[in-house]
Amino acid sequence: MIRMRGVGRRFGTFEALRNVDLDVAAGEVVVLLGPSGSGKSTLIRCINHLEEYDSGDVFVGGVRVERGPNLLKVRQQTGMVFQSFNLFPNHTVLDNVALGPVRVKGLTWEAARTKARALLDRVGIGSQAEKYPGQLSGGQQQRVGIARALAMEPRILLFDEPTSALDPEMVGEVLQVIRSLAHSGVTMVLVTHEMGFARQVADRIVFMEAGEIREVSTPAAFFSGTANERARAFLDAVL
Ligand code: ADP
Ligand code: MG
Repeated sequence: MIRMRGVGRRFGTFEALRNVDLDVAAGEVVVLLGPSGSGKSTLIRCINHLEEYDSGDVFVGGVRVERGPNLLKVRQQTGMVFQSFNLFPNHTVLDNVALGPVRVKGLTWEAARTKARALLDRVGIGSQAEKYPGQLSGGQQQRVGIARALAMEPRILLFDEPTSALDPEMVGEVLQVIRSLAHSGVTMVLVTHEMGFARQVADRIVFMEAGEIREVSTPAAFFSGTANERARAFLDAVL
């Protein structure tokens, strides 16, 4: 579903990503771990072209990720959930979810809102549909963010630290929603600092450092300390 080959990204002379190779199979859940600044966000953003890469190749569902006609095909297959929710404050919760299908998929508002209601129910906030994002808790807002991503019926869901901006008591409700999506057939790439969750939900752990993938392993291997020394040092620091 996702194929990255020799992917590099520079900012000036600084290499944020270096020679990244990664394959993600359909339905697989890959968790990216690594210290701050290691390139996790840059990698995930290269998958849907929110960030440009300047060497190598990225393919999503066989389509090369690049400017031009391919971009819409890539964006139609991917949904992204951001740390900071990025909801539209002047639209209701319902319309935040309905807007994408209206604009990108050409649904009528009526059809899009019907679908949006079902998705809000699915993430447990159906009763909040007529409110505005600012009236919701952080955990509820992020669940709207997830419903919004799902509304596009993506084959790939990208999550960049979806719980990092939440108060601790709201982390669980969002992780529960993500957990329910994992292994539902959708392909997921997820950056998180929630190690227990990573261990539960990942099919594979990808460990990054200094712009490079340093280790790819099963959660069991990664968390049992058979991981390489750098990964162990990272775990010692965060656990
Ligand atoms: P992570 O998500 O693992 O914390 P990032 O992918 O955000 O890391 O960033 C990797 C490195 O690239 C960091 O050192 C960051 O400062 C740098 N970087 C990211 N985006 C930009 C940018 N737009 N301009 C300059 N440097 C950037
Ligand atoms: Mg980041």
